Parts: sequence; structure tokens; C-alpha cells
Amino acid sequence: MYDWLIVGAGFAGSVLAERLANERGERVLVVDRRNHIGGNAYDRYDKDGLLVHEYGPHIFHTNARSIFEYLSRFTEWRPYEHRVLGEVDGKLVPIPINLDTVNTLYGLNLTSDELESWFVKRAEVVNEINTSEDVVVSKVGRELYEKFFRGYTRKQWGIDPSELDKSVTARVPTRTSRDDRYFTDEFQAMPKHGYTRMFEAMLTHPLINVMVQTDYKDVRDLILHRKVIFTGPIDEFFEYRYGRLPYRSLRFEHITLQQEWSQPVGTVNYPQTQDYTRISEYKHITGQQHPKTSLTYEYPTAVGDPYYPIPRPENAELYKRYERLALAEQNVWFVGRLATYRYYNMDQVVGQALATFRRIQESVPTDVGRM
Ligand code: FAD
Ligand code: UDP
Repeated sequence: MYDWLIVGAGFAGSVLAERLANERGERVLVVDRRNHIGGNAYDRYDKDGLLVHEYGPHIFHTNARSIFEYLSRFTEWRPYEHRVLGEVDGKLVPIPINLDTVNTLYGLNLTSDELESWFVKRAEVVNEINTSEDVVVSKVGRELYEKFFRGYTRKQWGIDPSELDKSVTARVPTRTSRDDRYFTDEFQAMPKHGYTRMFEAMLTHPLINVMVQTDYKDVRDLILHRKVIFTGPIDEFFEYRYGRLPYRSLRFEHITLQQEWSQPVGTVNYPQTQDYTRISEYKHITGQQHPKTSLTYEYPTAVGDPYYPIPRPENAELYKRYERLALAEQNVWFVGRLATYRYYNMDQVVGQALATFRRIQESVPTDVGRM
């Protein structure tokens, strides 16, 4: 008899498996329907020995020291600050938009103060900022919005930024300085030996068993267990009772080139051209030295594995209905990006899983139901 059946071996499932086994001494079975652990953060060595991220580039960043320290129990780190360029009007310029972006694009020589007024002159007055269009046009005006955000967002999400919650494009700030880092978090680093090794360290415990290529629905009635932690799509758990929650998918194309480098930074975005949104070159990110180089192209799609919850009001409403069903489940805990329908980064999922663990500690006696 397992104390816990955990569905999904990504960040949400692995953090909880580790906590429940180490802190409560409980028996845990983790199942994942994919053929590996790590969820979307899974990385692997390709046939040339280059470390690639199977589900697109994953850059770890957080402002929460406690989350960084928690993960540091399972990995060493390589300091890394991500940089992104956008191909705009035929030029490669920094994203987020900064002083160099505007000066390069328009052939100007503005100072930071001058750029501030330049933005103010172009910014549109928006009385209430609700959408992903509002956020950007109210800061930098319509022209930069169209160059950097409209096309990329339509490609990535299949809908116009005016139909997406403001939180989506608000992920990317605007700067008047020359800071060209994609993130400004206090802790920015990559697991020294990759994410998969870090997950192995979390899940290697005498009380944790892991079964991959195993779908929850195929084992839930066969394997005796007391409680469930579910980290898959919440609508799937309830057999789409209220209809499907929309998730956006991607097709990843991984290629290896017979040359040492392909692009100047970890990621290049294509907001105006191409069917893909961005190309990432892993050696910038992992620090590997190698005569060849591996890249991933991301092609957004409507069908395929669910990767992104789509933040817009009607989806939030539908999620709320599923959440009510989830709250009524006595023995099931819903955690993670798919089960709580939140556009969360890795550190936020770790934080959510640790908070769930604290709630379990408060409400579930360790020896409940033990024979
Ligand atoms: P997942 O990693 O999705 O894990 C859920 C697991 O559950 C999956 O492995 C799935 O196979 C399994 N599962 C689902 N249903 C079942 C079932 N019925 N039976 C068995 N198994 C099941 N975050 C960052 O912080 N930085 C980044 O740079 C970054 N880049 C990203 C790039 C892309 C392209 C994507 C898609 C995401 C990115 N993220 C990034 C977000 C990050 O991937 C997530 O925050 C994190 O991986 C979510 O962890 P999770 O455990 O909630 O879900
Ligand atoms: N975005 C954009 N142009 C860019 C980069 C981002 O329009 O060059 C918008 C787009 O809607 C994207 C969102 O900002 O989905 C968030 O970008 P981020 O890089 O955080 O996306 P993720 O890494 O989560 O795919």
C-alpha cells in the first residue's frame, strides 16, 4: 500500500515526493505517462553529447532565496544570465526593449533620460490596463508594440494580444537602461549537470518508486494508495465534465550544426517573420564546449501536449468551475502548472509545491489510516 500516488514527475510531483518521503517517512509512487522524469524541464544528451532541453529552453531564475536553497540540496549550479535578441526590421536588437534597442533600431543616440521622454511621447493613454495589448501600448506606443509584440504573440498564442490577459506580455519589461538581461532576479543559474540529474537526486530515496510510461487512469484502480497528488491537466482529471480548458502547445525541432556557434546569444526571437517564435542555442546556456552546436526551434500549435494555460477571462471562469470540483475531492491534491491552470515558472511551481506540503503537514496526520 502506498501512502501517496503522485501523478507527474515534473517539478510539482518531484518536490512533493521528496518532501513526503524525507520529512514524513511515507511511501510514495510517482507515475508519469512520458518515458522520463523531469516533466517539461527534462533535458538529455543528444547523439553528439550535447545537452538539449527536450521541451524548449528552461532558464532557472528566482527572487526567493528559500526556493534556490531548497533546490541546492539536489544540484550544484552554473551561474548564467540569459540574454535574448530579437530580429526586428532585419536587425538583431536586445529584448526586453532597452536603450540600445531603440538607439539601434532608429539610428539614435539617446540617453536614458531622453528615452524616458521618447517613450512618454509615444505611449497611448489607456484608462484601464486589462489586456496584453494595453500593457505594451501604454508604455512604449503602438509602433514598438507592433514590431516586438503583436506578431510574436499572435504566433505564440493563436490570438491577438487584445484578447489575452495583461499578465502575459507583462512578463517582458521595458527598460531605459542598457541592461540586456532577460531576467533581473537575484538568483539566476543552471543546474550544473542538467535538470534531469537534479530530478534523479530528488527522487532517489528508498521510500520513492517511480514508474514512467504509466498513465494514471491505467493504474489508479490497480495500485493501492491512500491519497493522490495530481499534477496533470485538471480538466482531464474530471473527464472534461465542463468541456476542455484550452492549452497552447508547441512543436520542437531539435537540430545539430557542424559548426561551433550559430547565434550570438542563448535565444533569438522572431517577432516579425518565420513560423517559429524563437531559436535557442544550448551551449550558451549550459556552458558546454563542443565543436558542434545544438539548437531548438519552437513552432506554436493548437494541438499537441498541453504546455501553456491561456490566460484570458473566459478560461479563468472555466478553471474556477473545475477548481470547485477539485476542492471537493477529499483525498486528492492538485498542484503545478497544468493542475492549477497557472502560467507559472519553475520556481513558482516549486514554491506552490512546498506550500502544498506545508498544508499537508498541518492537515494530514502522518499515521492516518495506517494498519
Ligand atoms: P510538468 O513539468 O508539465 O509536469 C507534469 C507531468 O505530469 C508531465 O511530465 C506529464 O507527462 C505528467 N502527466 C500529466 N498527466 C498525466 C497522467 N494522466 N498520468 C501520468 N502522468 C501524467 N520556466 C522557467 O522557470 N524558466 C524557463 O525558462 C521556462 N521555459 C519554458 C519553456 C517552455 C517551452 C515551456 C513549455 C515551459 C517553460 N517554463 C519555464 C515553465 C516550466 O516548464 C514549468 O513551470 C514547470 O516545468 C512546470 O512543472 P509541473 O510539475 O507543474 O508540470
Ligand atoms: N513576447 C513578445 N515578443 C517577444 C517576447 C515575448 O510578444 O519578443 C510576449 C509573448 O506574448 C510571449 C510573452 O511575451 O508569450 C511572454 O514571453 P516569455 O519569453 O516570458 O515566454 P515563455 O518563455 O514563457 O514562452
